[in-house]
Amino acid sequence: MLFNNYFSYMNCIFCQIIEKKAKAEILYENEHVISFLDIRPVNLGHALVIPKNHYTNFLTIPVNELDEIIKVTQKITSAIFSSIKPDGFNIITNNGVAAGQSVFHFHFHIIPRFDEDNFAFRPIFKNYENNSMKDFSDKIRIEIKL
Ligand code: AMP
Ligand code: ZN
Repeated sequence: MLFNNYFSYMNCIFCQIIEKKAKAEILYENEHVISFLDIRPVNLGHALVIPKNHYTNFLTIPVNELDEIIKVTQKITSAIFSSIKPDGFNIITNNGVAAGQSVFHFHFHIIPRFDEDNFAFRPIFKNYENNSMKDFSDKIRIEIKL
């Protein structure tokens, strides 16, 4: 597996899980991807899917490895859906401290959801004032590089 550096490996609990130096309830693994249960589940069956190579976040993982992760995430979600039978599910990735990221090894959360589970994002919605919606979209559009 590829470490950004030795420091990240020593300080990364997910790298240690990949190396079997730390315990985890592993659901699935292949050459590029591993999935295991989150130790602090929002709901029981909450799983994580991560690349075996250490990348800090969604912007730094190469797209071919992201493809692998997405495919496995769909398979694991399907297995959670048929075994645990939630009413719905969230697939989320937190990026940066401001977004709630606490482990800096890229991962998707698969969170099974139930009608009465009392877990909800409750945003206070903002307004675009004075044509600023177009200003925002212009700023973003100019940076899109495909
Ligand atoms: P995030 O806060 O989005 O970076 O998510 C990190 C997730 O990793 C949290 O939901 C933690 O509960 C979970 N986590 C941290 N350490 C472990 C571990 N040793 N085994 C399983 N899950 C873990
Ligand atoms: Zn790592």
